[in-house]
Order: sequence, then structure tokens, then C-alpha cells
Amino acid sequence: MAVRDMEDARPEALQGEFRELDQHAARLRFREDGDDFAGLDRAQAKHVPERARHLPSIRSTSMSEPPATSYAKRIDMSSIALEVAGLQKTYHKGGQPLAILDIERFAAAEGEFITIIGPSGCGKSTFLHIMGGFIAPDSGAIRVYGHDVRGPGPDRGMMFQEFALFPWKTVAGNVAWGLEAQGRARAEIEPIVQRYLEMTGLADFRNHYPAELSGGMKQRVALARVLAFDPKVLLMDEPFGALDAQTRETMQEEVMRLWARTRKTIVFVTHDIEEAVYLGDRIVVLSARPGRIKEEVRIELPRPRELEIKKSMRCHEYRNYVWDLIRSEAQKGSK
Ligand code: ADP
Ligand code: MG
Repeated sequence: MAVRDMEDARPEALQGEFRELDQHAARLRFREDGDDFAGLDRAQAKHVPERARHLPSIRSTSMSEPPATSYAKRIDMSSIALEVAGLQKTYHKGGQPLAILDIERFAAAEGEFITIIGPSGCGKSTFLHIMGGFIAPDSGAIRVYGHDVRGPGPDRGMMFQEFALFPWKTVAGNVAWGLEAQGRARAEIEPIVQRYLEMTGLADFRNHYPAELSGGMKQRVALARVLAFDPKVLLMDEPFGALDAQTRETMQEEVMRLWARTRKTIVFVTHDIEEAVYLGDRIVVLSARPGRIKEEVRIELPRPRELEIKKSMRCHEYRNYVWDLIRSEAQKGSK
């Protein structure tokens, strides 16, 4: 079978398992979204911006509302996987300070799928890299399960748009890399590698080199690699941004299945509004630079989400709503 033909092939044997896990995840999710939440949403309705009220399917919290109230009650604080407070970052360009980010508060609950969107250059990548521990903020705190982040760590896995694979290593070698770096024993590594190769539909390609793979397959390898070292939080920076439209959709489905299966907490940056709506439990919309949280839009589409859901009215409503938010920011940015 040609490599490209594999793009759409999900391992037949795993289909049932995927579905079962998706359904299980959906059940958990609905339980989480039970009475407490509904009650709170009603109580919070007065905070919902006027425009959003006309869209019955959208509930959002506006910037003027203290974020502490919007989360502390909605989400059990003990289940916060990732938390950011008072984060600021300024770069200097030609001796002039350039404020990049100003995030008062951001939190991701355990198992939540958050998408971040905002106009180009608003600091999305910088935000993700700061949470990953690759860039130090000027001020603010970042915590993963209550532990301060002071640099990169195995509790967070990152995935980028570029296919950051080692070209001299095979698919299996690339997936094993993180585990080898952790100094794990060879006998321990192999079954883990095999498990994630199977989970991502790569088992038949374990001895291929990255140059022999299509873009989608390369991102599958990158996904398998990051999942193999079992981070609690996955930080993804436009991971499918370089893929063609069809492959991107296949990968969107794939990442949702893997998320449902592994119950990771995911923070996913994208500039594609449809992608943000389709994937997210919540969309965090950033303002033009300096990036601030302009609005958070809770996406109450049922899960599991088939691709077909993109055609639905509600999906279009969310899309249009977020589009307006970003459009107004992009116009500010260009003034
Ligand atoms: P986004 O991912 O939202 O497009 P980035 O986080 O990549 O935005 O960049 C935000 C802004 O910070 C841009 O104006 C970019 O030019 C600037 N920037 C990013 N990295 C640096 C750096 N190392 N030094 C100076 N400016 C930077
Ligand atoms: Mg970016």
C-alpha cells in the first residue's frame, strides 16, 4: 500500500475500541456538565455579552467578568491541569519595547480540549512556548497540577506545525526518542513504541524514514512521539497548519479520537476558526497584540463529533460569532 493511501486508513481492529472510548468520554463529559454547571450558567447569563444572547447555543464569559468567578465555580479547582496567572511578556525591537502578551488568568481543566485563536502576531505561539517552559515570561505564574513551571518538563508535550522529526531515525526510532532521552530501558521502550504506533495507525511504517512519508503521516509520527512519553498536558501550535484540507480533517478526527482515548488535557493553537470550533470544548479568543483574553466561547456541540457536524447550523453560528470577534481584533491590529 502506498504511504499516501494510508492517510485515511484507521486500523480496522481499533475502530470498535475507538468508538467505545469516544462514547465513554462523552458520557463522562455529560456528567461533568451536569446540574451544577447548568445552574451556574443561568446565574452567569447576565454576564453573557448582548450579541451572544441572541445565539442560544453560545455561552461565553466576557473580559470584564473577573475570570476567577467564571472558572472557580464552573470547574472543580482540584481538577485544574494547567494554570496561568498574571502573565506578561514584552520583547524589544530596535530598542523599543513591544508588549506581546498580557494574560490575567487562564486555566485548563483536566481532560479539557481548549483551542486558542487570535489574529496573526497576537502572541499565540509565544503563549504556548511560555507554557511549555521554552520561553521565560517577564512576570506571572504557570502551574501544572500546582507545580510551578520553570522550564520544559515531561509533564508537558509540545507539537509544532513543522514536522520536527529526526530525518536519520526511522518512524519507530523517532517515537522511541523521548523515552530514550528519559533513560528508560530498551525492553521497556519497545512495547510502548509499538502501542503508540498502533494507536496512530503507523505500525506498518515503523521502519520507514520521515522522507518517505506524507505530511499527514509525519504529523502522526510527531503525535505518537509526544504521546509515548505520556505528558499530562499537550501543547499544540498549529500542528495541522501545513497540511492540505483533506489531510487536515483526517488529522482533526484523529487527534480527537486520541484525546478521547488518552484523556489528555490539550491546548491547541490554530488560526482556523472551523478547526477551533470542531475540536474545542472552549475557544479562547485572544485580542490583537498584546494578546489578552478577549473572550472565551464554550462550544456545546455533542461528542463524539463526526466531521459531518461541521455542516450543522450550530457550528456555523459558533464560527460566525468567533469570526466577528477576530475580525474586529484584526482591524484594530492593522490600524
Ligand atoms: P502568533 O503565533 O500569534 O502569530 P507570535 O507569538 O509568534 O504570534 O509573535 C507575537 C509577536 O512577537 C510578533 O509580532 C512577533 O514578531 C514577535 N516576536 C516573536 N518572537 C520574538 C522574539 N524572539 N523577539 C522579538 N519579537 C518577537
Ligand atoms: Mg504562531
